[in-house]
Amino acid sequence: MAIRTKIVATLGPACEEAEAIRQLALAGADVFRINFSHGNESQRQGLLANIRSVEDELDRPLAVMADLCGPKIRVREIAGGSVLLGEGHQITIERQHVVGDARRFSTTLEELTKTVAPGEAMLLDDGKISLEVVEVRPPDEVVCRVVRGGMLASGKGVNLPDTRLEVPAMTEKDRRDAAWIARGDFDYVAISFVRTADDIAVLRETLGAADCGAHVIAKIEKPQAIANIESIVAASDGVMVARGDLGVEMDLPSVPVAQKRIAGLCQASGKPCIIATQMLESMTSCRTPTRAEVSDVANAVLDHADAVMLSGETAVGQFPAAAVKMMDRIVAEIQGYDDQTTASAPAPPVRAGTAGALAAGVREIMATQAIAAIATFTVTGTTARMFSKQRPACPILGISPDLGAVRRMCLYYGVVSVRASAPQHTRDVLGLASEFAIEQGAARVGDKIIVVSGRSLNTPGGTSTLVVHTVE
Ligand code: PEP
Repeated sequence: MAIRTKIVATLGPACEEAEAIRQLALAGADVFRINFSHGNESQRQGLLANIRSVEDELDRPLAVMADLCGPKIRVREIAGGSVLLGEGHQITIERQHVVGDARRFSTTLEELTKTVAPGEAMLLDDGKISLEVVEVRPPDEVVCRVVRGGMLASGKGVNLPDTRLEVPAMTEKDRRDAAWIARGDFDYVAISFVRTADDIAVLRETLGAADCGAHVIAKIEKPQAIANIESIVAASDGVMVARGDLGVEMDLPSVPVAQKRIAGLCQASGKPCIIATQMLESMTSCRTPTRAEVSDVANAVLDHADAVMLSGETAVGQFPAAAVKMMDRIVAEIQGYDDQTTASAPAPPVRAGTAGALAAGVREIMATQAIAAIATFTVTGTTARMFSKQRPACPILGISPDLGAVRRMCLYYGVVSVRASAPQHTRDVLGLASEFAIEQGAARVGDKIIVVSGRSLNTPGGTSTLVVHTVE
């Protein structure tokens, strides 16, 4: 059975029907991302229903991540959909809504005309187009010079790397969306443009008020988030290295270093890490990726990502299932190399609690004997996550009675999650673990497996025993 780095696929017009989602799941997608920057409630409800119907049909858990829009500034409508901005030309940004053309356009942030100053940069469409503010004419206009030109389309993002914007990470729309998400069947909620751990607390409040068990993923896409990364990782349930906006907001060549630092911190803190954006970008319109993209995905695995993510490749691309399949093949191919390098690398620090301490011992055990699988009985999924962070060279079974936990474990590196009621007696634990390991194709009779459970079964945080057991 393969040990898998997980795949997050973003849904969009190219894959919104149940059949298309089924194809993505069969190709290797484990988590589906619904981007709240686009669409409306009824479309999102439809996507969620389609994912859940595929989950039923395939009889395999799938996780769903709602990705909040955050204070992303976007270009409003451009006449005819797009316009060429010529290098050296002047362009005016209007506070009032105007239909844009080669001389003027407006954005979704009306305050923009009050916040920027001459000399500051304004980057459009992930930095493909660059403007410099020449003159501010309060309260309605900002005159800019086009430094790097290109085609500007309606709805493209606007980044202001030099401007200190005092807008909260959770906008009014995000609060409304989060309240809606909290009432639904979501497993993860990603918060965009996080700057401090307090931003995460605001989202948790909304989710907690509705008794929602979804876990919070902090999207790291601003230099302030990098500055506060330790406290953000500690406050969140997982992190996404959102390289699209990060690569515009900070110096682009610094992004790989940031990626390695964030992934390393997640590894040491026991939190899942998703590496995102432009991983197989050329597959949006081409059947094969570039060599550099293949290397990028493989290197994300070596950085110890729990999951790699596809955005436009699946949401609007011409070959969504082929992109997932390609990603799956790349992560499978690099796995053997990662197993060897991980086994010889120092184990990550032991995390608090007995589960963390037991997980830390697994590498010692595996250095002296062949282990086919690790079966963890877990209520919340935490024990499986602790073992996953040791990156053992065998699959981990996460067996839980809780459907939410089973779905959340879809994001964890190397974990195969199974829903099952907790054993009634501790004497049943080894037999059940063997049964699940055989059923999932992770072990055969005579193989050794590691079985992890609690003496008091079905108790969150109750993990206390580790047994090396020969499957009978
Ligand atoms: C990113 O910026 O890399 C990202 C994943 O966020 P979004 O797709 O919401 O822009």
